[in-house]
Amino acid sequence: MPLGLLLDIDGVMVTSWKALPGAVEAVAELEDLGYPRMFLTNTTSRSRGEIAEALNDCGFDVAPDEILTAAKLTAEYLTANHPGKCVWVLNEGPIAEDMTGVELTDDPARAEVVVLGGAGPVFDHRALSQVLELMVRGTPVIAMHRSMTWSTAVGLSIDTGVYLEGLEKAADRKIRAIGKPSPLGFRAAVDLMQLEPTQVVMVGDDMHNDVLGAQAAALIGVLVKTGKFREEALDALQRDEFGPVPDHIVDSLADVPALMRKLSDQT
Ligand SMILES: [Mg+2]
Repeated sequence: MPLGLLLDIDGVMVTSWKALPGAVEAVAELEDLGYPRMFLTNTTSRSRGEIAEALNDCGFDVAPDEILTAAKLTAEYLTANHPGKCVWVLNEGPIAEDMTGVELTDDPARAEVVVLGGAGPVFDHRALSQVLELMVRGTPVIAMHRSMTWSTAVGLSIDTGVYLEGLEKAADRKIRAIGKPSPLGFRAAVDLMQLEPTQVVMVGDDMHNDVLGAQAAALIGVLVKTGKFREEALDALQRDEFGPVPDHIVDSLADVPALMRKLSDQT
């Protein structure tokens, strides 16, 4: 059975847009081995074109159309579920390039749908209060993802998920999140590779969003011990004898070519 590869970017290939040790060589080797591949990221600070450019600057050979971002998936979701609606996006970073086909506004008063992107200074008290007001009035609110943290060169940063939980509690309403760990991105990537979910290996540093999310969508989950990985979180997961655990755990992306060879031999 042929296998495909789905790679998370931040914390697996790069941290703060610097290549992790052995990552460039591993991605090149995996390409030589001929696995169909896609990249799936909850990164919202850059468009697909900008991400490809940043990766290419690090020495990776990646094209924009190989990358699925939470913003791109959100745009597709809006087109399918809220066609023609005026959308206010609260996001740290320019994201319009990945949201073509969606009518965007900077004015909350015109918002028919609210989209929360990646957290940052724009997630201030005033803006979040406006989101809450719209939520309470019944305006649909969608999040590009509900990640709690991302890893930077100087440590962890809090992300959108931290704010979502408070907004949901304050408005007594749920916010639908589009990026990982929702199955939408995993399914879209599997379809683009023209494979079945059980043939696709997802590699990530976020145990819940990447690995268990992929496994819930019937993909094979591989956890790397780089990026936001913390040994204590894995220990806690493994202590729960009835809970899910990663299908495979490796030290870093550098170990993935050997793992893929092993999995290919088994299938
Ligand atoms: Mg990551």
